[in-house]
Order: sequence, then C-alpha cells, then structure tokens
Amino acid sequence: MGRSCAKRFSIKVWALCAATALLLAMPLLCSSSVAADEVADKRNEIAQLKEEQKQLEASMKDLGDDIDSQQAKVSQLNKKVKNLEKQIEAYETQIGLLDKQIAAQDKRIEELNTEIKSKEDLMLAILTKLKKRAAAITKTGNYSAFQMLFDTEKYEDYLLKSQILECVAAHDEGLIDQAEEEKRGIAQKRGEVEAEKEKTLADKAEQETLKGELDGQFTSLDKLYTQAYNEQVALEKKMGTYEARQAKLKKAEEELEKEIEALLNTETSATYGGKMYWPVPAVKMISCTYGQKPTYFHGGTDIWGPGILKKPIIASADGVVVKSVKMHYSYGNYVMIDHGLDEKGRRIMTLYAHMYSAPSVSEGQQVTGGKTQLGLVGSTGNSTGPHLHFEVRVDGKRVDPVGQGYIKKP
Ligand SMILES: [Zn+2]
Repeated sequence: MGRSCAKRFSIKVWALCAATALLLAMPLLCSSSVAADEVADKRNEIAQLKEEQKQLEASMKDLGDDIDSQQAKVSQLNKKVKNLEKQIEAYETQIGLLDKQIAAQDKRIEELNTEIKSKEDLMLAILTKLKKRAAAITKTGNYSAFQMLFDTEKYEDYLLKSQILECVAAHDEGLIDQAEEEKRGIAQKRGEVEAEKEKTLADKAEQETLKGELDGQFTSLDKLYTQAYNEQVALEKKMGTYEARQAKLKKAEEELEKEIEALLNTETSATYGGKMYWPVPAVKMISCTYGQKPTYFHGGTDIWGPGILKKPIIASADGVVVKSVKMHYSYGNYVMIDHGLDEKGRRIMTLYAHMYSAPSVSEGQQVTGGKTQLGLVGSTGNSTGPHLHFEVRVDGKRVDPVGQGYIKKP
C-alpha cells in the first residue's frame, strides 16, 4: 500500500464521523415535519453508518497492529543478525588466536631443533677429542671397552661412563661428563619438540572444529540477512514508504551519475596500466553478476562469501581517489578511484560500495593497485547483506567487470 492510500483511509473516517454527527442532529432540527417511517429509515441509515465506521476503525487498528507486529519482526530479526555477527566475530577471534598460538609453537619447534643441532655439534666435537685420546691410549697398549665403543658411529653408545672410566685419565673424565650433559640436553629438547608438536596438533583439531561451526553460523547468518531484508520490504509496503524509498534511491543514483559525468571533465595525466587486482583478496565468490535482473539492472559485480563482513577491500589498480563518501543513500559508504586513460584514451574508474564504515582513504589520495586498503566490506546503503558491489566505469559508463576481462576470479 502506498502513502496516498493510507491518507484516503483517514479522510473517509472523518467524512463518516461528520455524516454521522449531522444525521444524529437531524431529528432534533425537524422532528415535527418528518414522517415516522422516514425517521425510522434515517435511524437505520445511522445505524448502518455507525457500523461501517466501527468496521473502518477496526480495520485501521488491524493495519496499525499489523505494522507494529511487522516492525517487531524486523527489529527482532535485526537483533538476531547483530547477535550472530558478534558470535561470528568471536569465533574468528578465537581461530585467529589459535593461528598465532600454532605459529608460536612452530617457531619454538624450530628454535628447539636449532638448539638440538648445536648440542649435537658440540657433542661430536667432544667425541672427536675423546677419539684422539682413545687412539693415544691404544698406542700405549691400554686397549679397552673405551676403544671398542668408539668404533661405532652412535655416540649415545659411548656414554657408558662406568665402563669407560676404567681406562681413561682424569682429563678425559671431564670430557665424558660434558658429553653426557649434552646428551641429556638433547634428550630434553627432543621431549620439548614432541610436546610442542602435540600441542600444535590439538590446536589444529580445535581450529578445524571451530571453522566447521563458523561455516554453519555463516549459513544461518546469510539466511537471516535475506529474511530481514524481505521483512523490511514487507514493512515498507505496509507503511506505504516502499515507493518513496525506491524513488529516493533512483534520485540518489541519478545525482551520482551527474557527478561522475562532471568528473570526466577534469584533467588526468594518469595511465591505466591494463591490469586489475581482485578487490577482496579474502573472498573469491561472485553472488550477483553484472546485467539485467528480473526487477532491476545490476551495474556491477557483487563479491560475496562466508565471512566477508569486515574483510579488507583493496584498490584494484593504481590511481587517485575521486570520491570517498559516507552513507550515500544507495551506495552506502563508498569509494571511487580514477585510474586515468587506457590505451584507447578512455577514462577508467572503479567504484567500491556498501563499505562497513567510513572509507579509510580520502579524496585526492594516491592509491596502489593490489595494496592500498580502501575500507572494509559491509552492508551500508541499499544492500541486503554484506558484500562488495564493484563497478568498472569506462568514460563514466558502467561495464561488466568480469565479462569485459577487467577482473578475474582468483
Ligand atoms: Zn551489486
């Protein structure tokens, strides 16, 4: 129902009230001149009008109740969306923490392995010394278990101090003590490596579980977005604000087109390099392609995927920020970049819409393709859920970013 429809309702009610009042007053004005059956007729008419008025009031109340309950539904859904978004954020934080923990453990394992290596080197040096001593002892005829043990390459076998001590001098005893200490050190470090590896495995398992749960949450969130949007549209239709909003959207979009038209008259010395980066590195799905849809024309490529909310948006190519706008009625928080002229002398621009919060670049700022972060993915403006609406404009006109080969799914 439109806005005018709601107005007609109230006018009708007032007209009925006035008519009722007039009719009620009539018998008093001309009681003696009106025949009895005529009075009865009027009374019937009045009763009928009163009944109609009651019905109208009831249906207006119904409509009011309807809007109230719809409003409640919408705000309940929005609350659910917010809660789920918070929950997802908590999951992502937890997964990120585990990532850091796993990386720290991997680093610790690497450090321990370096320590083990240096201890092994030290031990080998000690054993080489002991071997020389053994050779000297053998020369003097003091052959023993000591020499036999040194014939093998497994130094752990040498460390049988009680057997060796019998045939070495006090000086060699010190070396053996040192070798034994290194051996204990190595065993301890190896134990630590095993413990770290076990911790890492446990953390990775926990992370996998969390990721599974997160995927589930994303699916429910996605359904909620659609549900909330549909209920919002239903509410707008009941309240009679739907058409007005559509008209406002159209006007905002037309104004932007005019501004872009004006931008084309500004000077540029930049040259578009012919290569564009995918603007949301973390997410690779396309949820809506460029082109005619059943109820509207879609002038860009929508990039979407689980977990896209608040993921960084990067400049697709080198250029200058020509628009950094907060809360446009249709595009929400958005950025537009001028990349300069292509090899055919056409002005190439890109647009990034529905950002989560105010863009992180300002107008006039130079950006680097594939590097400069422009903002975070959100759902501001005319949007059903978080996604990046990405446009490529050639001489101001929107073209198919994927179909024309500007961006390619990575
Ligand atoms: Zn879009």
